[in-house]
Amino acid sequence: MIALRNVCKSFDGGRTRAVDDVSLDVPRGGFLAIVGESGSGKSTVVKTINRLVEPDTGTVQIDGRPADADPAHILRRRIGYVFQGVGLFPHLSVAENIGVTPRLLGWEPARIAGRVDELLDLVRLPRAYASRRPDALSGGQRQRVGIARALAAEATIVLLDEAFGALDPIIRADLGQDYRRLHEQLGLTTVMITHDVSEAVLLADRIAVMKDGRLLANGTPGELAAGDVDPYVRELMDAPRRLAERVAERLSSRDPGARDPAGLDLVRGV
Ligand code: ADP
Ligand code: MG
Repeated sequence: MIALRNVCKSFDGGRTRAVDDVSLDVPRGGFLAIVGESGSGKSTVVKTINRLVEPDTGTVQIDGRPADADPAHILRRRIGYVFQGVGLFPHLSVAENIGVTPRLLGWEPARIAGRVDELLDLVRLPRAYASRRPDALSGGQRQRVGIARALAAEATIVLLDEAFGALDPIIRADLGQDYRRLHEQLGLTTVMITHDVSEAVLLADRIAVMKDGRLLANGTPGELAAGDVDPYVRELMDAPRRLAERVAERLSSRDPGARDPAGLDLVRGV
């Protein structure tokens, strides 16, 4: 469904090599997570898929056709894009935000209204929220509207760029699981950028690891956690387990509050 071949992209007249010879495939129905530190080129790679970024060299194919075969706005109808902070229009209602693309496509108002209700159900928001403004929603609810909007014109590919990043952990886990369910139910093809390795392991079928613009590894979570992988990849994949162990140890070995009433150990870092 998505095929990148030897994609390179530099900025600042070649001084910043944001993406360095990246090739990857996402089959129809696949769910790929891209992880890696800030500045490693994750967003730039993903933006070559919906042509917010044009590669310097290399090719991007969507569904067997070059991504630049049609005008970018035609391509983007099929590709939902959700990023951190969502970018909902503050002066439009939830229904108007979700209906933006269908309206541009000239859908009849009744069809748009039906689609808005259907999408609110899909992302588990009450239909009564249709008339609210974004500022009357919580952060998690706004992200749900962002997902609904991305799907509105029957997109089959969804790009999530740190889409759940700014949310508190419980809301975030819920939204991630709900999104995974939607991915199955609608037969979507998903590329999700996250800095949270646990989220990648729990939601994705495959994980690509980027560092300094290069693709260091690409495999199933199991493949990346074991076997002959780059030491950086192993350390990254091991981070959630190490953290969970330290948390468990901390909670069971003693009562931090009793011995350290000011909680200074926690402040200094476990
Ligand atoms: P990530 O999403 O992994 O944090 P990005 O793809 O956003 O990384 O950025 C990769 C590198 O490219 C960074 O050094 C970033 O500063 C640079 N970069 C990204 N977009 C631009 C741009 N539009 N202009 C100049 N530099 C950019
Ligand atoms: Mg980014």
